[in-house]
Amino acid sequence: MLIKIKLTILYIMKNFENVKNKNLSFSTCKTCGAKCCSGLYGSNFSQILLEDFEKVYKNFLILFSFGDLGYLKASLILNKEYEMCKYIVDSKCSIYENRPSVCRTYPLSPNIDNDIYIDESCPALELGDNFIKDGIINENIDKSIFVSYQDKFIETHFYLEQFKKEDFEFVLHIKGVDFYKYTKESKDKYIQMHRNSLKHI
Ligand code: SF4
Ligand code: SF4
Repeated sequence: MLIKIKLTILYIMKNFENVKNKNLSFSTCKTCGAKCCSGLYGSNFSQILLEDFEKVYKNFLILFSFGDLGYLKASLILNKEYEMCKYIVDSKCSIYENRPSVCRTYPLSPNIDNDIYIDESCPALELGDNFIKDGIINENIDKSIFVSYQDKFIETHFYLEQFKKEDFEFVLHIKGVDFYKYTKESKDKYIQMHRNSLKHI
């Protein structure tokens, strides 16, 4: 029981804040031990866009969950509990060129409000401004994933509306969220990729 409580406290340590008006430097990942690849620090699943499916399904499980208002969301499952991502080898990502968007942008993250957020719990962040200066992210950082994120998020939302809740079956529960697979016959290319990803369960 004590162990469970400690793990829960670590899990909630992620702290995403809007980058607006922030000044932060990024030092190094060398001494961190890849916390952003660990379920222990809350890296378990991440909501994905339609454009992410193609890249994600070959390496990760894609499942669906239902938001508070019943809206369907697609997520990639990085890991199910408190372990490291299975692609960590010698503290390095073994699929670096094909890692998902959530890994590419971290500690930055896109958001539905079209602003960019940063996880201030990343150990590499420190006082300074070589990474973010007055809310502006360094020009050498690839920001293509953030462009039109709100439009892509809404497009994904409306596309997934065609799938009905009664056609999903519960698969697993991760840290308070129930995840489902689609059970009906479908030629939809995203459902096909979801089905192919089930080999990663
Ligand atoms: S990005 Fe941050 S959390 Fe991830 S390995 Fe580097 S220092 Fe660690
Ligand atoms: S895909 Fe690579 S970068 Fe992403 S969580 Fe796994 S090991 Fe880390």
